[in-house]
Amino acid sequence: MENKTIIQFFHWYISDDGNWWNYCASQAKRIAELGFTHVYLPPAYKSAFDGEPGYAVYDLYDLGEFDQKGKVRTKYGTKEEYLRCIDELHKNKLEVIADIVMNHRNGADEEELFKARPVAHENRNEFVDEEKDIHAFTKFTFPARQDKYSAFKWDFRCFSGVDKFENGGSTIYSILNEYGDKWEDVLDNEFGNYDFLMGADVEFRNEHVREELKNWGKWYIETTKIDGFRLDAVKHITPSFIKEWVNAMKEFFKKDFFCIAEYWNLDVNILFHYLDTIENCASLFDVPLHHNFHHASLEKKDYDMTKLLDGTLFKLRSFNCITFVENHDTQPLQALESPVDFWFQPIAYAVILLREQGIPTVFFPALYGASYSGDKGGQHFEINLAIVKELETLLMIRKDLAYGLQIDYLDHGNVIGWVRQGIKEKPNSGCAVLISNGDDGFKTMDLGKDNANKIYIDACGHIENEIKTDENGQGTFEVKGGSVSVWISKNK
Ligand code: CA
Repeated sequence: MENKTIIQFFHWYISDDGNWWNYCASQAKRIAELGFTHVYLPPAYKSAFDGEPGYAVYDLYDLGEFDQKGKVRTKYGTKEEYLRCIDELHKNKLEVIADIVMNHRNGADEEELFKARPVAHENRNEFVDEEKDIHAFTKFTFPARQDKYSAFKWDFRCFSGVDKFENGGSTIYSILNEYGDKWEDVLDNEFGNYDFLMGADVEFRNEHVREELKNWGKWYIETTKIDGFRLDAVKHITPSFIKEWVNAMKEFFKKDFFCIAEYWNLDVNILFHYLDTIENCASLFDVPLHHNFHHASLEKKDYDMTKLLDGTLFKLRSFNCITFVENHDTQPLQALESPVDFWFQPIAYAVILLREQGIPTVFFPALYGASYSGDKGGQHFEINLAIVKELETLLMIRKDLAYGLQIDYLDHGNVIGWVRQGIKEKPNSGCAVLISNGDDGFKTMDLGKDNANKIYIDACGHIENEIKTDENGQGTFEVKGGSVSVWISKNK
């Protein structure tokens, strides 16, 4: 009955010093005290590229144990440090969510010769040339691992497509294997068919591949004792395999794993379709809600706040909804860059942390800050992401007070609010949240008879005066322009 809260404990640009698992372990106590229940960690296996966060996976069995791709450790540390980090999080009663990247492989050990057909970037169903013999890196033998944990070797029959740098650009090839030259069936028809994402794109129609990935899943869970998964790039994976893999883990370990799938689409109807297709075996990140936050933050007072939750899982299918404000893909300089402007972040965090629906994810930089630099579009940028100073307060309110009946007042273009009326099991619980993206505002809201004649203060500290509820539990709460105030019982 306690509120669940996830922290995404990484961002794209953390330094490649191999100290991240140790650092995360050192923060376990603080994370738990702030009320987090789940820690989402980055991909833990060896990447093909130095410093890359782990999404360009080379070897799923190398958690920083083998001298591959130039180092034993990963960006985050060694296997021992990873296991110690998970152990430390568990000791603090935190569940650990692992990032599972199954769609593609990068950095093959050997080139192979096989038949393939180039396709158009904008329409992967359109062949731009005849079938031909190509050389491409698709053979993975993991020579330094020497078959430890698995003797499975990947070759071109394990992939549906591959990209090659040639003639000054990248060509996407559909591999002609025993499944023909057709892409796998995925739901998304972006680019005609969006099976292919990057590198050597895994062929899930190959039953040996499916078995190997299930064997790997069992090994990984047994080895690391992780509690849940964040399934990367499911838009590019045939949905039936996701269901098959999740159910296989569930059956083998006789337990339910907390499962979040990353399906990047702004259209909530497509997310519904995906959830129906996988029979709700995972929840989804609420991408449309993030997108609404992004727009609201840019449009400032012109954004109609009554529409903030429209078209989101949060509003329409909250039992499958994992909310977030920003993540490693949307942060400045990244591929899906759509940052939520800083002034709006306290508001967005209040929305995901203090409402009843969804399970919220807090992005590392919002709590810890982040500084990094990088190039985009031929320009160099220095980025400083500041700590959201209201965040610790909002987290404590989520942990202790944001319970009970929710009543909405999403009725004004600039000033919206809601109350949580509290529950008996949590003394002085309940809160009244008021948000403005325009001028100073106020609203009369109903905290219920159990909260009659109580004094309330703004926990965010923007407004100093106290507000008293009347004999029915109603109070007229205030908010400063462009901010959020969260009114809690003074007795707390
Ligand atoms: Ca794919």
